Amino acid sequence: MNTNLQTPIDYLKGVGPNRADLLRKELGIHTYQDLINLFPNRYIDRTQYYKINQLQRNNADVQVIGKVTSFKEIAQKRGKRLVATFQDDTGVMELVWFRGQKWIRDSIKPNTTYVIFGKTNWFNGTFSMPHPEMELLEEHEKNLRSAMQPIYPSTEKLSNKGITNRVISKIMQNLFLETKGRFSETLSENLLSELKLLSKSEALFNVHFPKNQELLSRAQFRLKFEELFYIQLQLILKNLIHKSKIKGFPFEKVGDYFNIFFKEHLPFELTNAQKRVLKEIRADLGSNAQMNRLLQGDVGSGKTIVALMSMLIALDNGFQACLMAPTEILSVQHYNGLSEFCNKLNISIKLLTGSSNTSERKEIHENLENGNLQILIGTHALLEDKVKFKNLGLAIIDEQHRFGVEQRSKLWRKGPEASSNNERATTPPHILVMTATPIPRTLAMSVYGDLDISVIDELPPGRQSIKTVHRYDKNRLRVFQFIRDEIKKGRQVYVVYPLIQESEKMDYKDLMDGYESISRDFPMPEYQISIVHGKMKPADKDYEMQRFAKGETQIMVATTVIEVGVNVPNASVMVIESAERFGLSQLHQLRGRVGRGAEQSYCILMTSHKLSNDSKLRLETMTRTSDGFEIAEVDLKLRGPGDIMGTQQSGVLNLKIADIVKDKDILQSARFYAKRVLNSDPTLGLPEHKVLLHTYRQLSKYKNMWNYIS
Ligand code: ADP
Ligand code: MG
Repeated sequence: MNTNLQTPIDYLKGVGPNRADLLRKELGIHTYQDLINLFPNRYIDRTQYYKINQLQRNNADVQVIGKVTSFKEIAQKRGKRLVATFQDDTGVMELVWFRGQKWIRDSIKPNTTYVIFGKTNWFNGTFSMPHPEMELLEEHEKNLRSAMQPIYPSTEKLSNKGITNRVISKIMQNLFLETKGRFSETLSENLLSELKLLSKSEALFNVHFPKNQELLSRAQFRLKFEELFYIQLQLILKNLIHKSKIKGFPFEKVGDYFNIFFKEHLPFELTNAQKRVLKEIRADLGSNAQMNRLLQGDVGSGKTIVALMSMLIALDNGFQACLMAPTEILSVQHYNGLSEFCNKLNISIKLLTGSSNTSERKEIHENLENGNLQILIGTHALLEDKVKFKNLGLAIIDEQHRFGVEQRSKLWRKGPEASSNNERATTPPHILVMTATPIPRTLAMSVYGDLDISVIDELPPGRQSIKTVHRYDKNRLRVFQFIRDEIKKGRQVYVVYPLIQESEKMDYKDLMDGYESISRDFPMPEYQISIVHGKMKPADKDYEMQRFAKGETQIMVATTVIEVGVNVPNASVMVIESAERFGLSQLHQLRGRVGRGAEQSYCILMTSHKLSNDSKLRLETMTRTSDGFEIAEVDLKLRGPGDIMGTQQSGVLNLKIADIVKDKDILQSARFYAKRVLNSDPTLGLPEHKVLLHTYRQLSKYKNMWNYIS
């Protein structure tokens, strides 16, 4: 029999109550199983020795053979540091100690050959190694050690309390001795043989005690594959169950609203991408299942018209539709744009936001319930309990990343109550969520694996690319001159300031200072300036926004409230102040506010001279490309998946061994095999899938991906 892996870690040889406590608190290790699944962050090759003249300035862990030739003490602000000169036949470096100096001095034999190990720093033309691990060469050669030494995740507290990497390696060894290193297999025979994967036991052994680089790679591959495979299996199953269980309204026909709009009122030819996406949506709406679709399309790719046409299909089938947007400004804009078409088609449409007054609300509520109102546009206000539809058939969420999951599910419950015996049951409306923040495919697969995804990957024809430049603050006068020239040509200009929560006061001051300086350089009455920021009343914001949209003002000074969705085609210049403080996706969104008309548009990124490497990369990316997906990839690399919308809701953040960015290929293959398994056997009922079903159940039981090995 195998050792029970749910045994508390306290029982393991070499652990004991104090260490157990620390392991629980610092690394969340409660059981044997948790410890097995503490995967090393990296490995150090202990077969490689460096000469001093081969050292690189990359702060890596290295091993060097040489002798200490002298010591000196150097006074510093507090106390002193001990510095040893260390040399080999190629050069000289320094070893440095800030603590334990007396002991070091007494125990190290000068002019005797040592192997030192640690991180190197480059300072004042010399390499130094603080607090190196040191071993006499003689001893070193006697000790057998695995070539690839694993380095485990740790915390400062752990190392301060003496639970060093060496200690963790030691207790890991004890664990493997006690369990004899035998663990139940968790993947099916088919997968193991087809993909030539290591068995579970071999993989776990080699990830902790790699025999060589090749076995280590294969062990990592197998464990990463497994992790991603089960996540994909979960997502795909969820989607399948959803489709078979949750019935939607089949929208059987495409009727007059759609057809007349298409023939008579469509102001332009749809792009091929728009046509394709509409077909996908149409197919969903026509099926018996409830649609749950994510529509991705870069800023300006024309998602709104797709939303409208989808709503027309709902209306054609006698249902109501709604469109929810994250800000008041955006809702108003949608409402104005869509009303124009709706009036021509004799469709009743209304706007509901936080600033709708009581009598407007009352009327909207009534007409929604009696079915006179066909389309409702609005903000979060749509989610209030008082807002009840007679028969909501389609709910669309624009800029979905601004909303949470709960909000999506609230919309679900806005469907009409089923007339059957179960009174509280509602049939959910079809759901279309739209986002202009492109999500790299890999991430979309993991985060939104339970949604179907449509992509508009083509911009309407005739769009000019936006010229993007980076300018330093000291060139402001020239930038102002450029703005003046553009305004002379009849164009309009945005000037955007960052508004970041933690320094709101200072940001607000920056914005006001900026507004004043722009007012000075662009004086009335020749120039009119709008200002919009978060502290203004919605009505005032709207008023200012409208003045700009109508062309009454030439310059719009704003915080990022204008980031999403606003459409003023005549605006051709976007100046972003303190651009280094914005994230990439935000910069890309802001830039998307211009380039919406026929004129050449510009985006000017203003920064100070002090820039971090990350900022430089962001600015460089922005000036190089306007491809939203490429930008999203860089963003993902810079920030990791944690900050990207939606990731919190899915398992991707808790990955223990796979890396969503680096292991793209493995993810793709895991998804492929998960799909294949479920296609052939949707209930995992076949004998050869028994192990998958078992593992899958354990996984759902423990929630944590890795809590299922036994
Ligand atoms: P987004 O996807 O960012 O929401 P919008 O729906 O606001 O983009 O569309 C941006 C602009 O492009 C709008 O002015 C819209 O009328 C226009 N547009 C959309 N589709 C097309 C098309 N196929 N041909 C020409 N212009 C289009
Ligand atoms: Mg939009």
